[in-house]
This record gives sequence, C-alpha cells and structure tokens, in this order.
Amino acid sequence: MRRQLASLRALLVDLDGVVYRGSTLLDGSTEFFRFLNAKCLAYCLITNNATSTPTQVARKLKDLGIEIAESSIFTSGQAAARYLTRQAPVGTGVYIVGEDGLRQPLLEAGFRIDDVAPGYVVVGLDREFTYKKMAIACVAVRRGAKLIGTNPDKTFPVEEHLLPGAGALLASITSCSGARPTVVGKPSAEMLKLAIEHLGVRKRETAIVGDRLDTDVLAGKRAGITTILVLTGVASQEDLSRSRIAPDYVFRDLNELRAAMA
Ligand SMILES: [Mg+2]
Repeated sequence: MRRQLASLRALLVDLDGVVYRGSTLLDGSTEFFRFLNAKCLAYCLITNNATSTPTQVARKLKDLGIEIAESSIFTSGQAAARYLTRQAPVGTGVYIVGEDGLRQPLLEAGFRIDDVAPGYVVVGLDREFTYKKMAIACVAVRRGAKLIGTNPDKTFPVEEHLLPGAGALLASITSCSGARPTVVGKPSAEMLKLAIEHLGVRKRETAIVGDRLDTDVLAGKRAGITTILVLTGVASQEDLSRSRIAPDYVFRDLNELRAAMA
C-alpha cells in the first residue's frame, strides 16, 4: 500500500544488501540511521538469518561502525519464538534444529527442549545438522509435532559460494515427514506483522526497506505496508523490469532514500 514517504513513521529495514554486504558497510548506512534518530522515526532491523542473537547482530554492526540498540533488531529466530508463544502454552516441549539465535529466544520464551515427544519441531539454519537430528525431527513430526521453519531460504551467499540455507534443512525434514511447515520469515507476512507489533506502530505508517523482490518486497505487500527497494543488494534494475512484484519506491541506495525522506 503506497503512502507518501513523508507520512511514514516507522521502517522495517533488512540488513544484508541494505545496511551491509557480507562484512562491508554500505554507503550511506551511518547517515541513514543518524537521520532516522534525528527525525524520531521508529525502526527495526529485520533479518531472516536465525543463527545470530540480537546481541551478536548488534556487535557486528558496532564493529562495522553503527550503534544500534539490541531492542531494534528482530530476527526470524525471535519471530519464531513469538509466533509459538501465540500457539502453545509456556513449558511446551520443542525440538530445535538451529543455533543460538533460535535456541535462546525459544528458551527465554519458556519453551522446554524435548527430543522425544515435542509439540513442535522448529527448524532454522544449523551448521551442525546431522542425519541424527533429521531423524529425531522426522519421527517427532510423524508422531504429531507441528513443523515450524524460521525462513525458507534454500541458500545463503558466502564470498564466492552459495551454501545450504535453513530452507534446505527444512526441505529434508518435510521430505521424510510428509509435513507442510509453517514458515515465519520473509516472504511470509508473519515476521513483519510481529515486527510491527514489536515497534508498537500502525501498518499504514510503516514501510519495509529491502534489497530483494521475492522476499522483502513480497512480504511487505502481503503484510499490507509500503515497500521500498534499494539496489545495493540482490535485485537489479533489470530484475525490476522483469518481475511482477513491483515495489512502491525504488532507490539506488540509502543515501537516495534519505534524501527523498528529508
Ligand atoms: Mg537482504
């Protein structure tokens, strides 16, 4: 839903390809957050990556030169934990395939690890994934546990390569269990709705800023908020002319967006 940029009160800002790329800060990032702070605009940095905790993400940003409060960071691991608190009472058993960024929010939310008869199997990227973990997840889901995925990304880029992502692990578990997972991360609208709630703002005054049409912009459209694409990450001008997913606004980078919002 397109709104005037000047009427926006809150931004959900994707990280990789928008604020940094790999371990390089993108042009205009520092000035952009200074601008948002000065204008008292609410913002939340959102990432589909569920391996890191907000503390770890904030530390990475600090090392790159940007100070962001941990409370302004929202990962798909946190989104999965919040989603589950709506579905199941505190103390419900969960089997976790994932790392700190998923384990920590689930435990903090009061869930209990259970690898025998969990109510839920929650799957994020786990760089120590094994046949044994796949088997435990498979058996649990076949016994009736509900399957939740943090994000559907089949791959993620590391320097020159594409490595298996959370979606690839999830696919192995759906393959052996026959279950259809609920996925909370982008392009599902769920994570954006939870982030909007987390900020305490209204949908009609909120926009997402992202670098991908098939995740960020699509999720924004599904959530019914304004969508802003920056061309510093995955999507190119050429992708834009070919895609049926059309963002409300397109900017070359955060510098251009800041100038348009000023
Ligand atoms: Mg991105």
